[in-house]
Amino acid sequence: MADERFNARLPRLTQQAPNPMFRIGAQVHGRDDILHLEFGEPDFATPPHIVEAAERSLHEEKQGYGPVCGLASLREALAERVARVNKYGATPEQILVTPGGTGALLASLLCLTVPGDEVLVPDPAWAGYDGMLAVAGARMTRYPLVAGTGWQPDLEALRSVITARTRVLLLNSPSNPAGAVYPAATIAALVEIAEEHDLWILSDECYDELIYEGEHVSPLSLDQNQRVITVGTFSKTYAMTGWRIGWLVAPLPLINGLSIIVAAQVNNLPTFVQRGAEAALLGPQQSAHEMFRAYRDRRDLAVTVLRSYGRFSYRPEGAFYVLVDVTGDLGAAQASSDQSTSSFDSVRFAESLIAERRIAVAPGAAFGTRASSYARLSLASNSDTLKRGIAGLLDYAREYQRHA
Ligand code: PLP
Repeated sequence: MADERFNARLPRLTQQAPNPMFRIGAQVHGRDDILHLEFGEPDFATPPHIVEAAERSLHEEKQGYGPVCGLASLREALAERVARVNKYGATPEQILVTPGGTGALLASLLCLTVPGDEVLVPDPAWAGYDGMLAVAGARMTRYPLVAGTGWQPDLEALRSVITARTRVLLLNSPSNPAGAVYPAATIAALVEIAEEHDLWILSDECYDELIYEGEHVSPLSLDQNQRVITVGTFSKTYAMTGWRIGWLVAPLPLINGLSIIVAAQVNNLPTFVQRGAEAALLGPQQSAHEMFRAYRDRRDLAVTVLRSYGRFSYRPEGAFYVLVDVTGDLGAAQASSDQSTSSFDSVRFAESLIAERRIAVAPGAAFGTRASSYARLSLASNSDTLKRGIAGLLDYAREYQRHA
C-alpha cells in the first residue's frame, strides 16, 4: 500500500515503460560470445584523419566553453554540405551543431510542441523517438508504413489520423528500421499534406548519404513555407557514433528557441569533437565511400541469403537495416503487419534467440506495432556475422514456430 502511494506520486517520466531495446542492449553489451546484429553501430573505426584532427585540437587549442550554436567554421562547412546533399541554400546562421542527431531531434520536439500536442510518427520507426516525445510531453500518433510496399508510408491513412492537436509530421527517409527510401513524389505529397494541415515537418535525415538505389529528396528542398527542420548526423556516414555530434537546419526565426534548448542541455559541443567533424566534411571522403560500398555489399549479401532461404520480401534501398519476418509464414506476417494485428511476441523471441543461439537482433516491437512479427538486422555488422547471424536466426525462427 505504502509502495502504491509512493509510486503514484512518482514524476511522470519515471512511469514511462522503457523501450525493449534498452533491455536487450544491456543484456548483450560488450559480449564477444554474441553475434551482434542489434544496433546500428558501424563496425568500422572512425577514419584516421578525423581522429588526428581532434587530437591536434586537443594539443593545440584551448578546450573551453564555445559558442552555443557551434563553431562558425563548422557551421559554414555544414551549410555547404546541406547545399550539396539536401539541395537547400541554408545560411550558416540557420544551422545548429547538436549532441548527435538525437540532440537535434529532442531540441526540435521541445521547441515545436507544448505538452499534449500530437506528433505523427511512422509505424515502424526508430525506437529513440518514444523517449523524446515522452520528455516533450507530446502524444505520439502513428501512421502506417506498409510492409507490402517495402515499408513506404500510407498517405491516406496518414491523412486520416491528423487532428486539430497535430503539430508535427515526423519523417525519416532513408528509414530506420526498414531501410526504405521515399521517392520524390512521396516526399512531395508529404510536404503538401503538411502544408494543407499547417504542420511542421521534422525530417530525420541521419542516413541521407547511405542510399544504394534511388535519390535522396529533402522536404526542405520542396517546402515553400519555411516549416521544416532537417536533422543530420556524423554518426553513420563517418562511423562517429560515439562522438555525439550532429546538426539541424531550421528557419531562422526558430534558431533562438532551439539554441536555448541546446544551451540548457550541454551549452556547446566540445571543440575537439567539432574539429573532428570539420575534418570529416572537408577532408578526404575515400573512407566514407569505402564504408558506403561495404554497407551496400552487405545489403546485397543479406538479400541473397534471405532469398536462398525463401525469405526475401523487399530490398532495403538505404540506411543499413533490413526487417525480416520471423513468424515462419511470410505471407501471413506481411498481411498481419499491414493490418497491425500480429500477436507474435518479438521481444520474447529476441531474448530466447540470445539465450539459445547467441544472436542479438532488435525485436520488431521496439519500433511500433506494425513490425511486431519481424526482427531488425543491422547491416552495419560485418559480412561473416551477417551470414552466420541470418542463417542462425532463420533456423531458430523455424524451431521456435514448431514449439510455439
Ligand atoms: N535517427 C535515426 C533514424 C537513427 O537511427 C539514429 C541512430 O541510430 C539517430 C537518429 C540518432 O543518431 P545520433 O544521435 O547518433 O546522431
